[in-house]
Amino acid sequence: MSEPSRDCPLCPRLAAFRDEWRGREPGWHNAPVPSFGAADARLLIVGLAPGLRGANATGRPFTGDYAGDLLYSTLIDFGFATGEFLARPDDGLTLQDCRITNAVRCVPPQNKPETAEIAQCRPFLESVIAEMPRLKVILVLGQIAHQSTVRAFGEKPSRVPFKHGGEAALGRVMLVSSYHCSRYNTNTGVLTEAMFRDVFRRIRTLIA
Ligand code: SF4
Repeated sequence: MSEPSRDCPLCPRLAAFRDEWRGREPGWHNAPVPSFGAADARLLIVGLAPGLRGANATGRPFTGDYAGDLLYSTLIDFGFATGEFLARPDDGLTLQDCRITNAVRCVPPQNKPETAEIAQCRPFLESVIAEMPRLKVILVLGQIAHQSTVRAFGEKPSRVPFKHGGEAALGRVMLVSSYHCSRYNTNTGVLTEAMFRDVFRRIRTLIA
């Protein structure tokens, strides 16, 4: 069971936030955001959680806010996506050998999920990983996605600490870590476009 139900009740705070926004913006998705891309992909990208006006509104990961602009343009450049990214789920963009999911499927207030919520949603992440027979590389964006993915493999984050550009073997896959491609990180220079492209260059090598 890799996809939660539309009314998943496991995190009461997030379910209440979802309901609040269903009332405020009835045209938005306002539900757990499903994974994007085919299960036979060799690359899985794990983000943090849907952005309120991004994936929570559009229903597709990284679609509708700045983080998606950088992520999808890089994916297209490195052959992991084809088409044109227009920040809408009906833009026709297709992932190639790549799948995208989030560590937490529901939008958290202030973009900050609580530890218990990350743990509640982890079984969905574990299922996404388990249903990908050809998976070779997992790219995690940011520390929370990193830690939850490490735990999904039964490891302790203290054994596999987060580091931008870091790599670690986790069972059958290679974990590659990057700073999150958020507007905040790019505006402050924590993550530059060149740094992000270097990560994807390395992923291409690992997959080949
Ligand atoms: S974050 Fe995950 S576990 Fe929590 S309510 Fe949403 S889908 Fe369910």
